[in-house]
Amino acid sequence: MSDTTARRTGRQRRLETREREPLWKNPPLKIDMDVCITCDACFRACPKPFGAIFNHDLDVVIIPELCSGCNKCIDPCPVDCIHPDPDWTPASDQWWAEPENDDPYA
Ligand code: SF4
Ligand code: SF4
Repeated sequence: MSDTTARRTGRQRRLETREREPLWKNPPLKIDMDVCITCDACFRACPKPFGAIFNHDLDVVIIPELCSGCNKCIDPCPVDCIHPDPDWTPASDQWWAEPENDDPYA
């Protein structure tokens, strides 16, 4: 099994269990929707093995359980509205419905 396959399998497991990897040391990131201009640059920057950013209604959201805290989405954001969220709370059922219904990273 290649590394890439192993990571994808990890994401699949996270989608099924809705649990964040305990080994991830960095906190997940959160988008400040008061500032976000919904440009989708962060969505394109998020590596597929994590695949944590989704369009949800008019918002762009990060599912914290899928976000490794790799920070690759921070620099591409033109308005600097993505920040670490050490006090993150579990994603809502409505957020989880996005990858379950139509996973853009699949
Ligand atoms: S920190 Fe990494 S995994 Fe999390 S949303 Fe940004 S690019 Fe995706
Ligand atoms: S890159 Fe920044 S402004 Fe663009 S959608 Fe993502 S969070 Fe919003």
